[in-house]
Amino acid sequence: MFILIIQADNRDEICPKENRNYIGGCYGKKIIGIDLGGTTVKLAVLTVEGAIERQWSIITDTSEGGINIIGDIVATLKEHLHKFQIDLKDIVGIGMGSPGQVDCKEGTVTGAYNLGWWCKQHVRSIFEDAFGLPFYLDNDANVAAMGERWKGAGAEADDIIFVTLGTGVGVGIIVDGKLVHGATACAGEIGHIVVDPGGFQCTCGNRGCLETVASATGIMNLTKVELSRSQAESQLKILANNGKIDAKDVFDLAKSGDVLAQAIVDRFAFYLGLACGQLANTLNPRYIIIGGGVSKAGEFLKNKVEEQFSNFVLPTVKDRTELRLASLGNEAGVIGAAGLVIL
Ligand SMILES: [Zn+2]
Repeated sequence: MFILIIQADNRDEICPKENRNYIGGCYGKKIIGIDLGGTTVKLAVLTVEGAIERQWSIITDTSEGGINIIGDIVATLKEHLHKFQIDLKDIVGIGMGSPGQVDCKEGTVTGAYNLGWWCKQHVRSIFEDAFGLPFYLDNDANVAAMGERWKGAGAEADDIIFVTLGTGVGVGIIVDGKLVHGATACAGEIGHIVVDPGGFQCTCGNRGCLETVASATGIMNLTKVELSRSQAESQLKILANNGKIDAKDVFDLAKSGDVLAQAIVDRFAFYLGLACGQLANTLNPRYIIIGGGVSKAGEFLKNKVEEQFSNFVLPTVKDRTELRLASLGNEAGVIGAAGLVIL
């Protein structure tokens, strides 16, 4: 005797937009993740579980006000989907992270100066016309936060803050599993909270913003001051006299015990620890994740910031908020962009 069991199986249905959390319903489908940067555009085909199956990149053509950028992305995507024999009906959607001010409701980007985009770019409508697929857009720090939360140091926690330390300071905030955008999509401009009133001049017009002391630029600001006032013997002075020094030199010398370099890193950690403490007291995240180029200083940097952080945070918050280093590196962008589609 045969018993036939028929199970309801909706695996062939495209993930309904109103039920985007239902990853199981998209079994076997793909997502496209795009990380648009000032130098390169990284693209990836991912599974709905967030695993990268294919990835490639193209140069970002910033000439003529970045007029070719979106057309280039559409063309390379079409070419590679054809090459990989992936049908559009097998794709749940496309997600993209971009520099500049992103209006994720409108699907537009304004003021991405490193791309040459001074005016508003109607990004989503171009992708929707080209592929007829759902398209999601957010700013690069938010997208990296999403990536780290989904597949990196965020360990799928519902409440995380991602701080990226590069030339400036970018932040992505996730509360109750959702990215926080604010009334005008400017939430998370932590780089411009003032931690040193009357301090260094910031690009925003204010003085003493976090970005002026706790970024690659910030490290150099602090270095100039220490070099001019410190009498201590230091390799850093020799390097400075011989030409260019950068943030990595300062961290490397601090690790090797150079007193002057250590004083600079301590100052850097003080400001970052202060800012992270205020953020933790405000939002009580499970993790504060530190990423970006400067975070390559690794555990050494994390331990210094942690020390300062513990001086500024409430004991009840401290017990539950952990500082972590980002773990996805360059892949956070494409993974997070895919996360915009599915999570
Ligand atoms: Zn500022």
